[in-house]
Amino acid sequence: MSVRFTQSCPTCGRRIQFRASLMGCDVRCQHCDAVFVAQHDNAHPEKASQDAVLSQTADDYESELLMNRVQQALNRAEESAAIG
Ligand SMILES: [Zn+2]
Repeated sequence: MSVRFTQSCPTCGRRIQFRASLMGCDVRCQHCDAVFVAQHDNAHPEKASQDAVLSQTADDYESELLMNRVQQALNRAEESAAIG
């Protein structure tokens, strides 16, 4: 059984399959004939996109926390201004 990886072509962006034994070697895009180095990091596009979604969610969550904190600080400032 041969293990295959997919990677997006840096030139045309289409997915290319290559054998695991070609990892780190020059591979040629079947679509546009561009030659590039097969890299393990991009070998799992599904996982990579999942990670991107996760970090995106974390970013949203953090900015929301920050907004809440700013809002609370504003509320406090208004309260103390009313009291003062
Ligand atoms: Zn290509």
